[in-house]
Amino acid sequence: MNHYQSESLFNIAQQSLVGGVNSPVRAYKAVGGTPVFLKKGIGSHVVCEDNHDYIDYVLSYGPLILGHAHPDILETLAKTMQAGTTFGAPTQLETDLAEAIKSFYPYVEKVRFVSSGTEASMSAIRVARGVTKRSIVVKFKGCYHGHVDSLLVAAGSGSATLGVADSAGVLLDSVSHTAVLDYNNTQQVHDFFKDHGDDIACVLMEPVAGNMGVIVPDLDFVAVCRQWCDKVGALLVFDEVMCGFRTQRSGTHEWIGVEPDMVILGKVIGGGLPCGAYAAKAAIMDYVAPLGPVYQAGTLSGNPLAMSAGLTTLRLLEDGTVFKALDNYTSQLVSGIENCIQATDMSAVVSRKGSMFTLFFTDTLPQSFSAVQACDQTLFKAFFHAMLNQGIFLPPSQYEACFTSALHDDNDLRKTLSSIEAVFSMFKKAS
Ligand SMILES: *Cc1c(COP(=O)(O)O)cnc(C)c1O
Repeated sequence: MNHYQSESLFNIAQQSLVGGVNSPVRAYKAVGGTPVFLKKGIGSHVVCEDNHDYIDYVLSYGPLILGHAHPDILETLAKTMQAGTTFGAPTQLETDLAEAIKSFYPYVEKVRFVSSGTEASMSAIRVARGVTKRSIVVKFKGCYHGHVDSLLVAAGSGSATLGVADSAGVLLDSVSHTAVLDYNNTQQVHDFFKDHGDDIACVLMEPVAGNMGVIVPDLDFVAVCRQWCDKVGALLVFDEVMCGFRTQRSGTHEWIGVEPDMVILGKVIGGGLPCGAYAAKAAIMDYVAPLGPVYQAGTLSGNPLAMSAGLTTLRLLEDGTVFKALDNYTSQLVSGIENCIQATDMSAVVSRKGSMFTLFFTDTLPQSFSAVQACDQTLFKAFFHAMLNQGIFLPPSQYEACFTSALHDDNDLRKTLSSIEAVFSMFKKAS
């Protein structure tokens, strides 16, 4: 499979875009080679500039739960667009989408829309600090909450450490109130709360981690975070930008058995357009301007196109049939992969929750960031390129989740499994 056109476009792109991309993972640094330039998406497939067709498990990193160019989304966008694309004034669509979100998240009373997950988590921690009048935000190693200065911290070895920035340009001052603990480590939560409980504004977590590959939490771990937050008066914030609508029909609260004080949304709720949101009970959200003292604003917030694409998406998710289909497809795919792993004696495991999953090259399911770091990255690189060559489009890093859509079908399932079988057999022969 050649990529002449992508190579040429990438060379030109690098003259005018930083690294040829607008978001770093797209540059394929973790896997090497030239990023594939896409020109078209149809349902569960994408087509590149060299006219190769791929089954897509990236789905724009999660938003496209209905697949590419879903006819209902195209129709609603065309209709909304005819009436203008942005007003800077309230529209009914915003209320409609907020109500749709509330029907999936019963503990939510009020919603504020923004234009990205980053903006949503930045605003959520501002609210948590405004409400509690405290400074410390507890986050977990390997969880990503967008490129917010104070959240660009993953460092912290073994025990809890107070922030060391991951990015140049982030002041030590910005991260000095961010505490980083290990995901799924209940003991660290106990210890940190015992020492710092009265200074903690919120615990921010991905209730199913997706940004270190998929890691499903211990229910006890989440319950302990809830108990401590209640005890000291801190807020528990679930970042469901990625896992919202993917682990079950709605949010994660039902199967986790814990409700957060605030939830951060993005990806799926924009139906493929830029959108984020933070939401909570009125007692918390009423701290936000214009009602309260926490300032937050946005020129394109609640944009009509994003609202209508999101609303159409959520309406199609409402009766649960899409979730059942996703669950069915993904479970068949994952058990097929597990059979391939057994048959070829590969050292690999699949972690899955709902319609998100990750194949890790290691023997036991990772429970934390350090376990993911110990996976065989060289094998992942070879796997990524071999799958691409078979026509399967995967995220170009071991630290990403794969997603399925409502439009992945039996043909996709068969083709994906036969590709994995071919790739694993090739690896086995080579070793
Ligand atoms: C993608 C993601 C974000 C950031 O959203 P952007 O829209 O890329 O800013 C935040 N949190 C989680 C869990 C995400 O997966």
